Amino acid sequence: MEHIYDMLIIGGGPGGYTAALYGARAGMDVMILEKAMPGGQMIQSHQIDNYPGFEEGIDGFTLAEKMRAGAERFGVRTELTEVLGVNLTGEIKSAETDSGTFYGRTVVIAAGANPRKLGLPGEDRFLSRGIHYCASCDGMFYRGKTVMVIGGGNTAVSDALLLSRVAERVILVHRRDSLRAEKIVQNGLFAAENVEIRWDSVPVELQENADGRLTGAVLKNVKTGEETPVDADGIFVSIGRIPASEMFRDQLDLDDSGYIIADESTRTNLPGVYAVGDIRTKAVRQIVTAAADGAVAVHYAEEYLA
Ligand code: NAP
Repeated sequence: MEHIYDMLIIGGGPGGYTAALYGARAGMDVMILEKAMPGGQMIQSHQIDNYPGFEEGIDGFTLAEKMRAGAERFGVRTELTEVLGVNLTGEIKSAETDSGTFYGRTVVIAAGANPRKLGLPGEDRFLSRGIHYCASCDGMFYRGKTVMVIGGGNTAVSDALLLSRVAERVILVHRRDSLRAEKIVQNGLFAAENVEIRWDSVPVELQENADGRLTGAVLKNVKTGEETPVDADGIFVSIGRIPASEMFRDQLDLDDSGYIIADESTRTNLPGVYAVGDIRTKAVRQIVTAAADGAVAVHYAEEYLA
């Protein structure tokens, strides 16, 4: 007979490891299935200053390692393996992976979301060194500098506003002639003196100097076709996120953007299945809110198992 865990956790980011810590401390037998490296999106951040308890801040890789070690201290196991499919119905749920099938009485889905990329050559090479996907994480590196923000939604506009308080100059680049962001979010933007907006524009090429440092982007006006090089020390890409939820689509309720529908209780439409962190419907996607979800999921999982 295969081993049946009390809790299978898919994804080893802050939501997953907090659920693991709380689950193990509640006496559960917990297994984390993580595709690549514990930490999720946060391992891309060189400096995290908005997770409490680290007065000098901490880099994402170290924080991830601390979360893993803290959970493993209580007996949590991590299997580095890719989940290929799941069966979330019934009392015993299962996850097919490239190293076999794992069984659990409860499943916590903590697979996160990935930023939508521009898809330009060189984008990955400049990751965290000129190209960023999180202004509240990395904006502080651009004090007194010029930054570009790509996008016209709530995130892009909030990011531009946040960066306007740090950077000397902010250039918001949007592909249409009106913003998608809510009016109330837009108002602050129009009041900021150091923000300029390039309407009807998209970046079509990243530019670098002889040392390989990002120096800006060529912007194309989608109406006129005109291309203009624009200098910037950093580019923040805020064009939406793609939740890693495809594999759950047949079994769980998702919203129009692909997020697993779950409220603050983290419960999904299936009993014993919880969605935590960036993969679930929520307003604030941060390390600290993912961690909070992990603790909440265990509360409801304990209730369910009892
Ligand atoms: P979003 O609302 O989907 O906006 C994405 C923006 O990026 C849109 O302006 C879109 O342009 C643009 N875009 C998409 N693909 C692009 C591409 N390939 N090239 C250039 N531009 C591209 O995403 P979001 O701003 O991240 O917000 C996600 C959700 O979180 C939304 O529901 C939002 O309301 C919510 N949110 C709320 C707040 C708040 O303060 N209330 C803050 C942040 C996020 P188009 O407009 O032309 O489609």
